[in-house]
Amino acid sequence: MKTAASVRSAFREYFDLTVGLRRYLRGPAPGPGAVRRIREQLERREQRWLELVRRSVFDRRGHPYRRLFERAGCEFGDLENAVRAKGLEGALSALYDEGVYLTEDEFRGRAPIRRRGLEIESRPELFRNPCVRRGVLQRSSGTTGRPAVAVSAAARDWHLEIYRLLEAQEFELERCARLLVRPILPSVIGLVSSMSFARMGLPAHGWFGYGGSLRRAWHYRILTRWLVGFVRLHGLSVPSPKYLPPGDFTPVARWLGGRLRRGERCYVGCFVSPAVRTAAAAAEEGTDLSGTMFFAGGEELTPARREAIEASGAEVYSRYWIGEVGPIGFPCRRQRGTARLHVLSDSVAVLVEPKTVRGLSRPVPALWFTTLLPMSSFILINAEMGDAGEISRSRCDCTYARLGFEWEISGIRSYSKLTGQGMTVFASDVVRILERTLPQRFGGTAGDYQLIEGCDRGAGLELRVRPGVTAAPAEAISECFLGELRRCYGGALSTEVWRHSGALRVTAADPLVGPTGKVLPLHLLGGFGGEVR
Ligand SMILES: [Zn+2]
Repeated sequence: MKTAASVRSAFREYFDLTVGLRRYLRGPAPGPGAVRRIREQLERREQRWLELVRRSVFDRRGHPYRRLFERAGCEFGDLENAVRAKGLEGALSALYDEGVYLTEDEFRGRAPIRRRGLEIESRPELFRNPCVRRGVLQRSSGTTGRPAVAVSAAARDWHLEIYRLLEAQEFELERCARLLVRPILPSVIGLVSSMSFARMGLPAHGWFGYGGSLRRAWHYRILTRWLVGFVRLHGLSVPSPKYLPPGDFTPVARWLGGRLRRGERCYVGCFVSPAVRTAAAAAEEGTDLSGTMFFAGGEELTPARREAIEASGAEVYSRYWIGEVGPIGFPCRRQRGTARLHVLSDSVAVLVEPKTVRGLSRPVPALWFTTLLPMSSFILINAEMGDAGEISRSRCDCTYARLGFEWEISGIRSYSKLTGQGMTVFASDVVRILERTLPQRFGGTAGDYQLIEGCDRGAGLELRVRPGVTAAPAEAISECFLGELRRCYGGALSTEVWRHSGALRVTAADPLVGPTGKVLPLHLLGGFGGEVR
């Protein structure tokens, strides 16, 4: 039963959301001139970052980063000199060597910050940007943990809109039929993306909404409808969501089929699993999706999921986005069919530094992020988010490259997320087995097998198989999974430990669905980490 306090807090939350929406809607709509702001931010990123760090770290006694700077013997003047002499990335690399960094466990408060001669208790709130107050509420997806609410300033939302405008130019979205397949409240993503399109002068032509049954989510449907009306009062053309039947994406495939037959190109903004399900629905209907571009985020676009979507004839693009860091990489048309992205280096600096991970014999090329914008929600300097990847110089000639985004990021994969019994294996290896090997061997498709870490008081691993997918006995599935895993990098030891402790349990049950309707191949109950959005 809801207590008066929880009703009050829900009311407060939606009041804040409405206030944030109004501020955002009254702000400057992104026009061609807005792109100049990106160029300017790129040119001045070093000075602006120094100003940000002075205000939010050096001026705050006891801030964990200030103590790390002190330990490294680096005063603000030294930092300025280092940036001038080595450039931003060069200075960050030197700082990393001096212990000015934050591991994922330290950031999440799972471990204190320990450097020689120093120990600091840590939690994420310590790294919030004190200069950012209200704006449109953005929930981090909370895929594998409690939803974390981050408040983004309207200024940052406008900055994001400029990225969307660049994307619209790069992909010529003005010539496309634009469809959103997005959850309704409590996730704000559907509402925010439809507003953002309308503000660019490219209103969405449709919105398929989902999120809970009518019986369980009727109040969210009413609130969504109310907010759509509120946005329209501000003169913006936003569609009302049409609700999809639970688990059925056939209406999306039919909508696209209709537009494509009329010779239109289609854009779909969605999470990765709805894109996979739509492609499957189109195949069942005999609809070719050639001419459709899925912009699929929120979940990792694994090779198997990419293949499943591209088999429908559609193209698929994914951005790289971590809730606490912000947008990191955006795709361009030349990167079609690849996993390469342009680094948004006006917002973020990315270092690659090797990291030793327990259970792996070789260090991984970990990514370390530094937030640069004055309105970033977190002040992060060389912060690890559990992903590895490579950075290289771009040879592109596209909207992004011409603006000065000269670095590309590729090979992004998560390494830290599967730690049953203290063992670590590359999450991407496990995902490949769940999405490819097991379906090939026993039937079903990507999304039918899910590994849940953290059940049985945090120590167990449950391998769920969607009922009806296979008649194979649990032992055979378990043997196949562990046998495949054994061959992977770091897998041999983990497999032995898990086999010995009986940590893996195979059950016939529907995969768990996250709060925003995502089904991830790995579902981690213990904590949450960086993901590809
Ligand atoms: Zn490009």
